[in-house]
Amino acid sequence: MYYSSTRGDAEKKTSAEAILEGLAADGGLFVPSEIPQLGLPFVESMLGLSYEERAEKVLSKFLTDYTEQELKDCVNRAYNRGNFDAAAEKRAEVKLPEDAPFPVLELWHGPTSAFKDMALQLLPQLMSTALRKTGVKDRVLILVATSGDTGKAALEGFRDVPQISILVFYPEGGVSRIQYLQMATQEGGNVNATAIRGNFDDAQSGVKEIFSDKAFNEKLAADGIRLSSANSINWGRLVPQIVYYFSAYADLVEKGRIKMGDAVNFSVPTGNFGDILAAYYAKCMGLPVHKLICASNANNVLTEFLTTGTYDRNRPFYKTITPSMDILISSNLERLLYHMTGDKARVKGWMDELARTGRYSVDPETLAKIRDAFAASWTGDDQTKATIHDVFARSHYVLDTHSAVAWHAAEAYREETGDETMTIVVSTASPYKFNASVLDAVGAGTEGLDEFAMQDKLHEVSGLAIPRGLSSLRTKEIRQKDVVDSAEMREAVTAFMKKQD
Ligand SMILES: *Cc1c(COP(=O)(O)O)cnc(C)c1O
Repeated sequence: MYYSSTRGDAEKKTSAEAILEGLAADGGLFVPSEIPQLGLPFVESMLGLSYEERAEKVLSKFLTDYTEQELKDCVNRAYNRGNFDAAAEKRAEVKLPEDAPFPVLELWHGPTSAFKDMALQLLPQLMSTALRKTGVKDRVLILVATSGDTGKAALEGFRDVPQISILVFYPEGGVSRIQYLQMATQEGGNVNATAIRGNFDDAQSGVKEIFSDKAFNEKLAADGIRLSSANSINWGRLVPQIVYYFSAYADLVEKGRIKMGDAVNFSVPTGNFGDILAAYYAKCMGLPVHKLICASNANNVLTEFLTTGTYDRNRPFYKTITPSMDILISSNLERLLYHMTGDKARVKGWMDELARTGRYSVDPETLAKIRDAFAASWTGDDQTKATIHDVFARSHYVLDTHSAVAWHAAEAYREETGDETMTIVVSTASPYKFNASVLDAVGAGTEGLDEFAMQDKLHEVSGLAIPRGLSSLRTKEIRQKDVVDSAEMREAVTAFMKKQD
């Protein structure tokens, strides 16, 4: 198997090379030369296995240049060194709330309490192994611009990984109190979190400029440093996400909730289209999936695309109570377009049009294929809170805001279509990451409470254990204190790398 760009076949890479490089040279995303068609026997082979063993099986189908032992070591270092919640079955646990119509796949038992841990604990291991395999001797600097969740999950994943350093830029005053504390208390000898005087767009444009600044990159190269990226366009971040769809299915078979071969739907709270695209890969590989429900918030560019075939980012941007889905450019959609059409020239045409005009429309045949696999809807903040309220009242189960959007999309889909196929709601964050919205939704007052008093109150109301990583923020030392102007990001990079020698 090899990897090449969604926009052309000029380069053919091994998976290790694709993971190190992140983005293809022509601006496209790396896609596998084929999706292995494995059918039910592969799903059956997951039964009775640990999450780690299931992960090894899935990864071995795509990362064909990694040895079995390499994958085993990567997976164990990612999930099995005490940084996930204790019980092995909690890597990606399927919960069955009482009296509830949907099982919930909880993906937030990792160190930062967001589903991004599922991939960002493994990507650094795959990257560090890729360095060994390719013989690259440079030091890799991971640069991240974050509006909150990705930054912390990346810092935690890359901390103390040999030969790699990580520098995260976030907008000063532009992340939640919890997210700030999560990043500012980060430990590790190879990490830095720096606040930018500016907003998220300034941070992101600054990082993009650094990536494309030839002279600056040559200067870094002369010092034996190469830049790379940890965001969800990297194949090494996508492939770990395929695992939990198989794992959830196997768990439901083991619990007797479905029979091997029964179809299921997944409802996925979606931003950059990474999580739901991983589910699509699982479906292509043979997981019995009927529909993938793409759940969006008021930034409903994907709802429109998946129903009309027109992608149009020229629209107002809304700040919602589901900030991780406040996105108008869903990068991973490009991979879906390639797999739906198999036509790289056409994909390149659409992406050029998107860059030029902010919109493109796919042909009716492609739209029909997309609609065959995907359903889509969106939920506004009020309805999201009402969903949290209703599910809690009925089942005493607390959803975070993002997961509530997926829950509501599952309800809307069932009502609209009458499809009674078992629908699994994908839950992407602990409710403790969004204390104020969740307390407000369940009708508990938040007036005068600081973040930690709200944690305690949510614990009182729900009985749910507070994740270690979030409760320990109360007493942790602030270590990351750098603040720079957005025009000084290059200098911040240089200063940080001087200290890394
Ligand atoms: C990142 C994130 C999402 C969106 O996932 P994509 O892969 O970008 O679609 C949803 N929920 C939470 C809590 C997230 O952190």
